[in-house]
Amino acid sequence: MSPDSGPVYLDAHLHLQDARLRPHLDDIAAELRRRAVSRWVVAGTRETDWPEVARLAERFPEVMPCYGLHPWYLADRTPDWEPALADFLSRPGTAAVGEIGLDKWIRDHRIEEQETVFRAQLRLAARLGLPVVIHCLRAWGRLLAVLRDEAPFPAGFLLHSYAGPAEMTDDFASLGGYFSFSGYFLHPRKADVVETFRRLPLDRILIETDAPDMRLPEEWEACPLFSIDGEPINHPANLPAIYAGLAAALGIEVTVLAGQVATNFHRLFGFAGIGNPL
Ligand SMILES: [Zn+2]
Repeated sequence: MSPDSGPVYLDAHLHLQDARLRPHLDDIAAELRRRAVSRWVVAGTRETDWPEVARLAERFPEVMPCYGLHPWYLADRTPDWEPALADFLSRPGTAAVGEIGLDKWIRDHRIEEQETVFRAQLRLAARLGLPVVIHCLRAWGRLLAVLRDEAPFPAGFLLHSYAGPAEMTDDFASLGGYFSFSGYFLHPRKADVVETFRRLPLDRILIETDAPDMRLPEEWEACPLFSIDGEPINHPANLPAIYAGLAAALGIEVTVLAGQVATNFHRLFGFAGIGNPL
């Protein structure tokens, strides 16, 4: 519970290191604290943003840093990416390996190479005892096959911004999977994603902003934000609105959802510890 006894909100996935958020960081941190968003799981995506993720973790105690090589940035990696990643992951306070995964939605996806890099990072996570934050677009069958092959995952994994097939969630859950809901899926045309979450066991659900991406529909957006170019972007403090939207869709009270999500979050990320307990 927060000081005013409202729910506590935990963002399971965002990119606070994104250059579009940088000019607003102090305001964003103040707004997150005002709205009782008490943990920010910040996912690195490539070698060049890992140092920035680490700096954010030093600057803000709420940041739970994750480091990984995202499939969109494979081509940018240096020959030393793997030892460099292992170095960042070995720092005290690291929450997870991520954001990593498989993506056949991008052009020239080079899926074989993606799979090699993904498997290498899954093995790093296993070696370090860390959970994994996974991105997947249009590669669900291949993802399940790789995860089955690399199992077990005693530290668990998160399928972030899950919009995969409803019929595969049992398979992922049985391997140790959690599923995070992002505000973009509050769009009425995305009702099938909400339906998938309605069928999930409540003890596998987390909630995320993926800020500055995955904007909420305007009717749910509590904190509008614009990049310096005037582009509308997702403010991390929209997280409580996503909780409210999902609670409404599931037909439960926000406080009930928030309590369950806190338990789930602690189970998946909690052991990594950042000094102060949830
Ligand atoms: Zn992301």
